[in-house]
Amino acid sequence: MKAQFNTFIPPIRTLMGPGPSDVDPRILNALSRPTVGHLDPAFIQLMDEVKLLLQYAFQTENQLTMPVSAPGSAGMESVFVNLLEPGDKVIVCQNGVFGGRMQQNVIRCGATAVMVQDAWGKPTDLHKLEDALKANPDAKAVAFVHAETSTGVRNDAKSMCALAKQYDCLTIVDAVTSLGGIDLDVDGWQVDAIYSGTQKCLSCVPGLSPISFSPQAVDVIKNRKTKVQSWFLDMELVMAYWGQGGKRAYHHTAPVNSIYALHESLRILHEEGLQAAWQRHADMHLALKAGLENIGLEFMVEETYRLPQLNLVGIPDGVEDAKIRVQLLNEFDLEIGAGLGELAGKAWRIGLMGYGSNRKNVDYCVNALTSVLKR
Ligand SMILES: *Cc1c(COP(=O)(O)O)cnc(C)c1O
Repeated sequence: MKAQFNTFIPPIRTLMGPGPSDVDPRILNALSRPTVGHLDPAFIQLMDEVKLLLQYAFQTENQLTMPVSAPGSAGMESVFVNLLEPGDKVIVCQNGVFGGRMQQNVIRCGATAVMVQDAWGKPTDLHKLEDALKANPDAKAVAFVHAETSTGVRNDAKSMCALAKQYDCLTIVDAVTSLGGIDLDVDGWQVDAIYSGTQKCLSCVPGLSPISFSPQAVDVIKNRKTKVQSWFLDMELVMAYWGQGGKRAYHHTAPVNSIYALHESLRILHEEGLQAAWQRHADMHLALKAGLENIGLEFMVEETYRLPQLNLVGIPDGVEDAKIRVQLLNEFDLEIGAGLGELAGKAWRIGLMGYGSNRKNVDYCVNALTSVLKR
């Protein structure tokens, strides 16, 4: 039997779920440029620019700032495997899916995760965090998610870091959905280790994870007693390739074209400016809110800690979640996200991330939902 395989032509979707988000054509264009060697002098120069642009995006002077050659979850894993050793204790704040993933990482490092639990849809309670810090004076770090994509909640990263620092803990922040979408200040907030993803508010293709470590975190890595259990994610080895100046040695083959894409996406963010990008996300969120409330839909997260880039919207009684999402996809080529965990079937997650956070998408989504909900 002779099989026939056709060229894959993807449907043209409008991506308004929890990520990936719509990719700017400028970025897709950058992706298709000719591949060069991963040690080509021209590529080394591009790597240096990517690091500078990431320092801008994170608002940091951290030297150890670079993209991990794998998705956001690998950035998460890089942070934990490099900072933790067996027997360490970490306070992990959880109010959604991704805090749970942090817990799994801590456990797999042979460390103990002390959990600070809050309801899904609510932010981390600072009093609970302080109680945990008081009860665990031996904790090495506090880890939490800045923008909880599973619920649309913004945790008060600045206050949480300040509190952790008061108790001499390292601060570990998941900024996968926050980078480029909301206020984030790595140096100003004293974040020691942070990771993000390319496919959320950076509107780049999935598959890279920008990370950054403070000088204090670098000291912790340098003074480890045990080897990092992951060869691929061991920062000391990775830095032989990504490190500053001097000689660059082969560690792994960088995803060269994806780095072109990240460079272009960071250039776009730099051109617009961080403040302007955050303001645009805030404005588009308000436009979506006006449109959806106008057709009787309700936002489920309290206004003070609502994320503009990920909107948790209640599904009206009697409306079938999956049926509506299938209709949106089939008839409008529009993707929105389902609720997760206890929110499954009860809420939709509508993303307005990066390039996709624009007036056209807002109106398109409101009109499409209006039309399918009328039936
Ligand atoms: C998407 C996401 C991740 C995981 O990123 P992947 O690129 O899917 O591995 C981690 N944390 C948060 C908050 C996310 O939204």
